[in-house]
This record gives sequence, C-alpha cells and structure tokens, in this order.
Amino acid sequence: MTRFIFITGGVVSSLGKGLASAALGALLQARGYRVRLRKLDPYLNVDPGTMSPTQHGEVYVTDDGAETDLDLGHYERFTGVAARRTDNVTTGRIYTGVIEKERRGDYLGATVQVIPHVTDAIKEFALGNIEGEDFVLCEIGGTVGDIESLPFLEAIRQLGNELGRERAMFVHLTLVPYLKSAGELKTKPTQHSVKELQSVGIQPDMILCRCEQDIPASERRKIALFCNVPVDNVISAPDVSTIYEVPNCYHARGMDRQMAGHFGIENTAGELDLSRWSHITDRVRNPEGEVTIAVVGKYTNLLDSYKSLSEALAHGGIANNVRVSMNWIDSEIFESEDAVHQLSDVEGILVPGGFGERGAEGKIAAVQFAREHNVPYFGICFGMQMAVIELARSLARIKGAGSTEFGNCAEPIVGLMTEWSRGSDVERRGNGDNLGGTMRLGAYDCALADDSLVREIYGEANISERHRHRYEVNINYRDKLEAAGVKFSGLSPDGVLPEIIELPHHPWFVGVQFHPELKSKPFDPHPLFSSFIRAAIDRSRLV
Ligand code: GLN
Repeated sequence: MTRFIFITGGVVSSLGKGLASAALGALLQARGYRVRLRKLDPYLNVDPGTMSPTQHGEVYVTDDGAETDLDLGHYERFTGVAARRTDNVTTGRIYTGVIEKERRGDYLGATVQVIPHVTDAIKEFALGNIEGEDFVLCEIGGTVGDIESLPFLEAIRQLGNELGRERAMFVHLTLVPYLKSAGELKTKPTQHSVKELQSVGIQPDMILCRCEQDIPASERRKIALFCNVPVDNVISAPDVSTIYEVPNCYHARGMDRQMAGHFGIENTAGELDLSRWSHITDRVRNPEGEVTIAVVGKYTNLLDSYKSLSEALAHGGIANNVRVSMNWIDSEIFESEDAVHQLSDVEGILVPGGFGERGAEGKIAAVQFAREHNVPYFGICFGMQMAVIELARSLARIKGAGSTEFGNCAEPIVGLMTEWSRGSDVERRGNGDNLGGTMRLGAYDCALADDSLVREIYGEANISERHRHRYEVNINYRDKLEAAGVKFSGLSPDGVLPEIIELPHHPWFVGVQFHPELKSKPFDPHPLFSSFIRAAIDRSRLV
C-alpha cells in the first residue's frame, strides 16, 4: 500500500521546503521504506528548461531527460533514488495535457473546468507511475495563499479525502521568526498561514516550524492550540550548520515517530540507523584542511543557479576530509587585462555549464591561466567547450577557433549538434527549432580510453552521465587537437561525440560534456569531484 505525504509551505518562500521534504524522505528510507519524492510547481512554464537560472535556480536533469526543478536534486542527494520525468509537473504541463485532451474531443462535449478536469489531471500525476513505493512525498511549490497554487491545493484536499487518513498526511512548513527587539518568538504568522490552509479545506496533520533556534514547549503548545494539531506534531526545525544534519535533527524531534503514529504503522525507531548522516555531518564539521576553488561562471549572483555543483564540490571535500571554499567569480572580469591573476591564490579552477557569449572570453582566459600555471582545471559542459577553444587557439594554433553558439565563425571547434543517436533511435535538430525541451538531454553512455586519467578515476571503461546541451566539440578537429597534445579520453559509443578531453601533461585538466554534479551524493561523492579536490589538495601542498 502506497501512502502519500503532501508538503505545503507558508509565511514566506525560501524556507527550504525541498530540503525538508528530502530529509523526511531520507528518514522514512532509514526506517526501511521505499520512497519517491515529487514536486508540483504552480508556475505556467511547461518545465523550468526555458527559464533563466537567475530566475529559478538550476535546472535539474533526470536520467530520462526531463528538465526539472532543482528540488529534485535535493531529493536524489538525500535518498539516492533517481528522479524521473514523472516526478515533476507544472501548471503549464497540466494545462497542456488538458487542452490537448479537449482538442481531441476526449471530454465528450463537457465544459472543461478547473474543477474537476484540471484537479483530476493533478491527481493523476500524483498517483501515477508508482512502482510499489511505500511512501510518495508530494511537495507543492510556492506559498499557501498564492493564487496559482489553488488548483494544486484543491487537488490534494480531494486526495486526502479519497485516500483516507491512513494513507494521506498533510505537513505544513512555516516560519517562526524571532524578533530581537521584543526578545520573542512569534507564532502569529504560522497561525495565519494555517488558517489560510484551512480555508481551502486542508487541516495540516503536522506543522514543521523553521526557526533560528529550537522552539520551547510553551510556544509549540500555543501553535498546537491555535492550529488544531497535537503538540507532538508541532516540530521545531532550527537552523543547522550543514544541510546534511537535517535528517538527524528531525528524528531527534520526533518527526518520523509521529508520522508512524499518524499512519498507524509499526514504530521501528529503536533500530533506526542514521549513522550515514552522522558520519557526513561529522566530516563537514571537522575537516582536516581547506582548499579554495574558483568557480568562473556567469550566474554567480544567485547561488541556486549552481546548486548541484556546489553540493558536488562539497562532496569532493567530504571524500577527502577537507572543507571546500568556493570563490564564485563572474567571468566577465577576466576580459580586462591582468584580472586573471586573481586566480593565483586558488587551488583549483572550475568553469561550469553556461549559455551564450557574454563572459565566454573571460572563461577562456581562466582556462589559459589554469593550463599555463598548472592549476587543476575542471570544465563542465560549457566549461569543456571553452577549454577546447582555448587549447585549439594556444596549442593547435587554430587562430579563429570559436563556437557557433556565438554566431558564424571561421573555425567552428564547437558547433550545433544536429544529429545524435539514443540507443537505436536518431534525434535530429535544426537551427530554428523550439528552445524548450530540445537539447541533448538525459543519460547517455560514454566509452573511456584505456590509458586515460578518467579511466583511472572512474575505475571502469563505460560510464553513463547526464547531458543538457545543444552544441558539441567538433570531432573533425580531433586529429589536429590530438597532435597538439589534447587527449580525447571519452567518446559516445559510436565514436562521433567527444564527451571528455584531458591534458596528459598537466597535473589535472579535464573537460566533460556532461554534468557529473547531478549524480553526486554526500554518501557517494562523484569520482571526478573527489579526484579534482584531491588534485587541489596536492596543489595546496606545492605552493
Ligand atoms: N551552451 C552550451 C550548449 O548548449 C553548453 C550548455 C551547458 O553548459 N549546459 O551546448
């Protein structure tokens, strides 16, 4: 029997609802249950793929090639369960489906309405594609009270009724602010937010209260009284020093015990093993050293744009027992003379994924600095493409080397990908295609060259990694680049798409066309990130 937990948020956004849901998933998993986490986003975009990362944060790509909300990244990092296309939906996608059905005549002459047609589509999404999971956790994006989330709240209200108490639970995450001037914790915003939820017919079963410090029993009792919830189901969620402490933090405050109570399922808390999280927390809190990595990108004013990347770098630190300090630098500054020397103090340089010409020359300057000064270099997607352009210009003396992403160029070292294979199918793209959902997306296999650094790092000859790009390194330049000392150490199985390049005579210089950061977990750091941080540690010992 699959049980459903619906997670809503109130008072303000950015409370960490995704993280809270992910940690709750990890707790249920520790109790031995199979879990799946889902995100229902009320905005009108069909997916976040066309949104700027500075608007919405990173676009998280699943194995099956969906462009999804970054919370799915938290879900995977906490539970290790690979997210799927069917784990994220938006108002845009729901309406697209409803309107397509209407056009086909599937509604048999009915007037198509938000209730029941849109709410039915939302319910279908929540209940669909379940494979025997014990728990499905559905997080509703946005904040209760937003106009656009109403159909979602109505849909989960109906589900609560249809599934019954023993199969459905509502968790509401709120903020309990501490007012310094009054020296008091304030419960009123929580009361109002719960009222708002009750006004659409949802009575929360548990209230999770984000706060700077633990909420004393007296205040929890007050929230319980006003919000119609047992006091033991009012759980403090205080700020913690690392996000990986959250599962232990919730467990210590009785969250999973109370959930088991709600569903009337066996209480196995005595056997609960959370040592995985204690170990990670301990490593994060007590590192034996520190390395500094410069991340030379474009969307550095909103760190959520690089969420998986910053987590993966931290995981590389966990693997090596060091703290990774990240220096986020807007690449445009390197386009002026000499600014690149700011990179002298770092132990590693990383150029992440990106789009468009702005700042590209600055990234190329950062690559050149890393190559010339033997600083470990990690190029991801766009960062690989910029590295290859730099190597083509400097090592292979191809003066006009560039990318057609920026317009026509004399030597298209990086060009638009018009055709590639997925298994036995061929995907084709042209210049004027739609932007949404048309990149090379999702997991693809890659064959590693025998005598390469990456072969050693991965410890296997064939890997699968996730992609999100429209351009590729042009295989026609392979011979020229190899003659200049660039190794093509990873290729698509058919040998036509360069997936990884490296520089054998450099301490650590690797460019990958895929996004390894999407698959890194705190309990299973990605080998490329562990190796990169190790190289940075070696560098810190040298200088
Ligand atoms: N803009 C490049 C492309 O589309 C790189 C994309 C990325 O870094 N994710 O190929």
